[in-house]
Amino acid sequence: MSEKRKCLACDNELFGRIDKKFCSDYCRTHHYNKNNLSNRSYMREVNSILKKNLKILEGLNPQGKTTVSEKKLLENGFRLNYFTNLYTTKKGITYFFCYDQGFIKLANGSYTIFKKTDFE
Ligand SMILES: [Zn+2]
Repeated sequence: MSEKRKCLACDNELFGRIDKKFCSDYCRTHHYNKNNLSNRSYMREVNSILKKNLKILEGLNPQGKTTVSEKKLLENGFRLNYFTNLYTTKKGITYFFCYDQGFIKLANGSYTIFKKTDFE
């Protein structure tokens, strides 16, 4: 039980209460502000990727349903790992959604894009 406890913000050794995490109020404030800032910028980044994905799908899919190659999606800057929700049918087919635009990967590697019209 002789392990030294260190301030989470500045690595100074901590004395006193066992549940202490910071050496000072300054360090506590600094630490939490930094975390909040990086969380917010991460959220902003994800939001902007999702919005961009939506714009790409809408741009490629003006008629409400179309099929495009993966290459074309990627050339437009589409990020396949970013979507808002998933829907898996009883047959085990998974539809991906970016807001109201759905997309599904076909056996040949292309994607069908479809606009979701009925929101349950
Ligand atoms: Zn400190």
